[in-house]
Amino acid sequence: MSSKLALLGGKPVVTGPVTESWPQFDQDEATAVMEVLESGNWNHGPKCQEFEEEFARLQNAKYGLLCTCGTAALEVICRGAKIGVGDEVITSPYTFHGTCMGIMMAGGTVTFADIDPDTNNIDPDAIEVAITPRTRAIMVVHFGGLACDMNRILDIAAKHDLLVLEDAAHGWGAQYAGRGLGSWGLASGFSFQQSKNMTSGEGGIALTSDEEMADIIGCVINSGRSIYERAPEELRWGGNHRITDFLAAILLCQLERVEAQNDIREQNAAMLTRALSQLEGIDPIRRVPEATRVSWHVYGARFNKEAFEGVSRSVFMRALRAEGVPVGSGYSEPVYKNPVFQHDWQGGAYKPLAWTTTPDAPDYRDLQLPNVEQYCRERISISQTVMLTSENRMGEVVNAFEKVCGQAKELIGLENKEVS
Ligand SMILES: *Cc1c(COP(=O)(O)O)cnc(C)c1O
Repeated sequence: MSSKLALLGGKPVVTGPVTESWPQFDQDEATAVMEVLESGNWNHGPKCQEFEEEFARLQNAKYGLLCTCGTAALEVICRGAKIGVGDEVITSPYTFHGTCMGIMMAGGTVTFADIDPDTNNIDPDAIEVAITPRTRAIMVVHFGGLACDMNRILDIAAKHDLLVLEDAAHGWGAQYAGRGLGSWGLASGFSFQQSKNMTSGEGGIALTSDEEMADIIGCVINSGRSIYERAPEELRWGGNHRITDFLAAILLCQLERVEAQNDIREQNAAMLTRALSQLEGIDPIRRVPEATRVSWHVYGARFNKEAFEGVSRSVFMRALRAEGVPVGSGYSEPVYKNPVFQHDWQGGAYKPLAWTTTPDAPDYRDLQLPNVEQYCRERISISQTVMLTSENRMGEVVNAFEKVCGQAKELIGLENKEVS
């Protein structure tokens, strides 16, 4: 058990590959794609409609509207909610920048509220502080498929008359209080991009239970025309964000697997959380009690270097990787540190609509949100494909964490050598 660290020449704890290959498919996908080929319905057709209904049912929403990607789904729900120039949307700074792109491309302005580092999600107290007279909506991000504190967020929204929209890009099959993510706000967006737990390579879906929203979103996706004759036959403004039945056919097969795969991820997450909680200096992510089902697109933990006599996160992760555990560090910076919010601000070749027409566009260059900035320095991430590994293998992952934590002082001398 207390053999030498693999980084220092010892034997790795993990005895085989941990990461499951991705994307996963079998003969079902091949048959389904062939069926579409032969059907002659190569466009947005019956498979799309079937998937929209099934996926909406899984998440407990009424209407599903497929579109090209998660970013487009977020843009079309913002358009459906009539978010436009001058409207501020509060969101999390610990997210993929697509969250912000969706808001900005619809014409809205992004306001960041700090996160709760225990849960990696937006902090309801920080939302309240960020509200201004221009705030129209809160775009929550259920990061990793771990639900935000929706009871508090819905209360805040009701008190200030704000809309709630959900970036549920990671929320396939995940629940809050037993009800699907993406069914809590006015509308939500999911992603089926290749790295995601359910995928058609590219793809996304907007969900809502509001009929008027569904009509408008459908028009925004379908060149301004109503999808499935849901809305009156009058043209509205809309681009074309439709996907084809080929992708919907693949998604219908992926949908058959997602629940069983999420079960495996939940079991592995439970094992990890139990074990990592015992380790000094490692804080596994916490779920709000109402997060009854998590899809674990990524699992997170915080690394506290004070507990390791100053050993850095990067050296610690290098030691874990040497033991055979593929760990990552998550986002290196909050999304507002991205160049489009920094030096390109107001000066880039292409400016979002909101910034060309609003005289007092926000200046993100001075923005500092301490929790998320510290979180980016401390996070250790484990991807969904690792979370799909066998129980035995996850046991080895746990052993590797225990071994590296137990011998962390051996890493002190390695601090100055730059690490990959
Ligand atoms: C992947 C992702 C998106 C965007 O999805 P695409 O399909 O890549 O456009 C949005 N938000 C989050 C949190 C994501 O991880």
